[in-house]
Amino acid sequence: MLPKGANLQKIRDGNRTYAITPHLPGGFIKPDLMRKYADVAEKYHGVMKLTSAQRVMITGLKAENIEEIWEELGMEPAMGFANCVRSIKMCPGNVFCKRGKQDSIKLGMELDKLYHKKEMPSRMKFGVAGCQNSCAEVHVKDIGVIGTDLGWDLYVGGSAGAHPRLADLLIEGLDYDEVLHIVDVIVKYYQKNADIERMGQFIDRVGLKKFKADVLAAFYQGVSQTTQPLVPQSPENRDIVPVPGGLTEGTLVFGDKITADSIISDIVRIYPQTVPVFRSFGMGCLGCPSATGEAVRKAADIHGLNLNEIIASLNKVI
Ligand code: SF4
Repeated sequence: MLPKGANLQKIRDGNRTYAITPHLPGGFIKPDLMRKYADVAEKYHGVMKLTSAQRVMITGLKAENIEEIWEELGMEPAMGFANCVRSIKMCPGNVFCKRGKQDSIKLGMELDKLYHKKEMPSRMKFGVAGCQNSCAEVHVKDIGVIGTDLGWDLYVGGSAGAHPRLADLLIEGLDYDEVLHIVDVIVKYYQKNADIERMGQFIDRVGLKKFKADVLAAFYQGVSQTTQPLVPQSPENRDIVPVPGGLTEGTLVFGDKITADSIISDIVRIYPQTVPVFRSFGMGCLGCPSATGEAVRKAADIHGLNLNEIIASLNKVI
């Protein structure tokens, strides 16, 4: 059995050595901790190595020393288990970098607090960059955000490694709370619907159009249903954020124009902002499953309304 929080390294001449990697959110380390790190590495004849996840690994260690090394460091291992959120990589953002447009440290630290080591269908990595230069490699992260003059742009499905995939842009111009809200929606959707597959593989399997439709519908539904801050700041009350029900079943998907043949239940699910429009035409029967299972054409006929006028009004708000 592996010692606590340790990775077996290459076996040389039959000798096994191990590496440990403490969790170091954002790669920030105070000078006194850095000294302690170095003292511990030296004491146990280890070698320090900077990792791509903004951490400091100590390698070349013996199994019998691992327990006391953790005690001396007083830190927690960065690695949980195989399928979890492995890392949240963040750049210095506008706190330190002259090019920064947004505070990637504040957002990155919050994401780290909420998601690091959370169980997922496969391994997952986050990236948070303060500007388009994307020093946190957002385009090869499962979930990533990039700061702009207008807020945050959110990307999904990137990965490096043996099967590299560039992330897809999901939505632009979010504020801080909206980023936390949509990440919560994406994570719950992925946990509910994905097999053992990275975010990008999941998106390729279900189709980006469907993925976008479901996630954005749930996101906008949350926006329209609450006057409170969109995202609660503590893990305890995160459950109030709406959860996407699953993959879309209707024919209408996010981005489509509404037509006379569009089904009302599909319309209000994909575009919840159309509810007041239906009501303004006197169609207050949106809670009735049989009524909402009809096409707009039939509902207009039943209510004696001008079909073209309804369609134009609905398309105006989407
Ligand atoms: S991504 Fe932009 S803000 Fe962040 S370190 Fe790079 S240049 Fe600076």
